[in-house]
Order: sequence, then C-alpha cells, then structure tokens
Amino acid sequence: MSDSRNWFAPTPAHRRRRFVISRRDGLYIHVNGKKLLNFASNDYLGLSFHPAVCMGAKGALSESVGSGASRLVSGDDPMLHRLEQKLADWKGYEACLIVGSGMLANLGLLQALADRFTHSFSDKLNHASLVDGVRLSGSRSHRYTHLDTDQLELQLQKNPAEKRIIISDGVFSMDGDCADVTTLLKLAEVHETLLLIDDAHGIGTVGKTAKGLTDVPGIAGHPRLIEVGTFGKAFGSYGAFILGTEELIEGLKQRQRTMIYSTALPVALIAAAETALAIVQKGEEAGRLQHNLEYFKQAVTDLPFMASDTPIQPLLIGENTKALDMASFLADNGFFVPAIRPPTVPEGTARLRFTITAAHTEEQIDALVRCLRSKL
Ligand SMILES: *Cc1c(COP(=O)(O)O)cnc(C)c1O
Repeated sequence: MSDSRNWFAPTPAHRRRRFVISRRDGLYIHVNGKKLLNFASNDYLGLSFHPAVCMGAKGALSESVGSGASRLVSGDDPMLHRLEQKLADWKGYEACLIVGSGMLANLGLLQALADRFTHSFSDKLNHASLVDGVRLSGSRSHRYTHLDTDQLELQLQKNPAEKRIIISDGVFSMDGDCADVTTLLKLAEVHETLLLIDDAHGIGTVGKTAKGLTDVPGIAGHPRLIEVGTFGKAFGSYGAFILGTEELIEGLKQRQRTMIYSTALPVALIAAAETALAIVQKGEEAGRLQHNLEYFKQAVTDLPFMASDTPIQPLLIGENTKALDMASFLADNGFFVPAIRPPTVPEGTARLRFTITAAHTEEQIDALVRCLRSKL
C-alpha cells in the first residue's frame, strides 16, 4: 500500500454508494438541475422548514454560532438544561441528557454502559449506531432474528450474567415496522436486564400524542428502560437525547465519552429543537401526518408495500437494478424516492423507501401514486 490513492479495494459498481448532491427547498429537492417533490426525508412533520423553528434558530444565532467547547468545559448553555427538563417531563422520565447526534448517543451510551463482562442482545436489523456501540463496548454480543422475542428469550435463558442489556430500534428505519416494547420490557423485568430502545423514527410520529412507541402506561419512565431520541428526524434539525433515571443520566455525565470529549450542540440547534418540541406538543402536525398516512395507505392497498403503520412505507422490489430503474422513473416524473439496496438492507430485498410527511398535500400524494402505478 503506497498511499491513500489505492488504500481501499474498489467497490463493485452495483454496490457503490453515491452522494446525492441536493439542495432542499421546503418539500422540494433540487437534484441534477431538476426540482423534485421529496418523498425521501425523515422530516416527518415538515419542521426543518417550519417558519417558527427557523426563527427560533435565527434568534439564537444573532448571539453566537459555535458553543466553543465540550459541556464539561464551557459549552454547557442553560438552554440545554431547560430543554432536557422539558423532554424528560414530556416523555415521562426522571432525567435527560442531550448529546451531539443519534450516532454519538448510541456509541457513547453503549460504551459507557457495557463492558466485556456484559452480555448484549440485539435485534438483527438494529441501526448501525447501535451495532457499532455494541462493538465499541466490547460486550458479549448476541443477535436475535428481527422482532423474534421468543428467540431473544431463549438467548436470555442460556446466557445468565449480572449485567445484561436488550437493545432495539423502536420504529425500524428501513422497514417501518415496530419493536414490541411491551414484550421487550416484560422480558427485561423477568430476566433482570436493562432495555435500550432507540426510537429515532417514532418520537414525533407515533401515537396520538406523537411521543413514540413507549407512550404506553407503565413503559416510559420504567427504571429498566433507557430511551434514545433524535432532533434530526421529526424535530427537523440535529442533535439527540437520552432518557432514563436520575442515576443513569448522572452516570453518563461522568462516563459518556462522546459527550465529554465532543463540542456541545450549538445554541441555534437547541433553540430549534425547543421550538420544535412546543409544536409537536400542540399536536396539529402529528394529526396531519396521521391523516396523510391513512390517505396514502388507502391509495396503495393493492400494491406490495411492506406492512407498516409508520411514515416509513417501503415498497419491496427485490432486484437492485429494478429498484434503481423505478427510482429513476419516479425522478424523471418529478418525485424523489430513493432505492435502498444491500448492504443497507438484506440481499434480494432492494426496495423503494417512501416517507410520508405532514407537509405533503393529498394532491401530491395522488400524483405520486398515479406515477407509481403507471410503471408497475
Ligand atoms: C437516524 C438514526 C440514528 C442516528 O441519528 P443521527 O442524529 O442522525 O446521528 C440513530 N438511530 C436510529 C434508529 C436512527 O434512525
């Protein structure tokens, strides 16, 4: 290996990931000089371009941009503490810790919680940040078939240990299906383990209150449960938070390296997230999202969409080239929908991943479905 120009083996062309240079413009996205209607964003409530959220960020920006240092040095703005309190109250937990991003939340959380004496039990379709967090922790890793809580229970029975943690996405990002948090928490109680639920896609979208999957009596706030949420999806900006008991959050403040050794979230993003939270709590956007989702699902009942009640609506295609063809046909007709291929999803399950948001109109959804049908 002479230098960085030939360091990596070439990726096969059919697997090559491409950056899509795209300027976003509200619900639209400009790609290769074309303006397309965006059905690919995780901005489920349209808050990334909501005037109040933008104003919140702008207000904070008039004072400063960067936070200058880690929260443990001089970057610990009072706004962080105010928002942590609001998030803990809203979600029903004792305490909350805001960190830089969902990726940093999971890497740091698992590194802090687990060690080589800990056994971790993960759903096989967990987000990469959870997978890498487990690796970084050095824990004894067990993986169970997607959503198979019977298999998980067998693994728990076979692997007793003092420190154990069950780890799962809430809403799964590429399938749109959901972990059974009630059963997972029951298993955590019976087998005396911790449970980590990362509901990055569920918070702000799922349930009447849009509080996410754990908004069930007896679940949110349970001392065995730790929850991760992000500001990058339904909240429309960037950043993440961890929810749990006072003791857990205090422990993380001492040990979470991705928070301790990383610059604090800029105040503009904290202000954006605080404004977004107030909007989510009012419930109008979440109501519109549910309406649009129902409307879309009604229109495609006869098409091979994967079973999903969440804004993530994947259409299973199978072959990579076919999925790419469909995506470029939709783009030629004004719609941006990505083809998701292996290794992001299992071999032979290439798909188009549609996301429905509160900001779409019925007319836009009608036009999308008409276009899709003309190609199927
Ligand atoms: C998006 C996502 C993350 C990463 O969050 P970022 O804030 O984008 O780093 C983590 N977990 C899940 C389940 C996600 O979907």
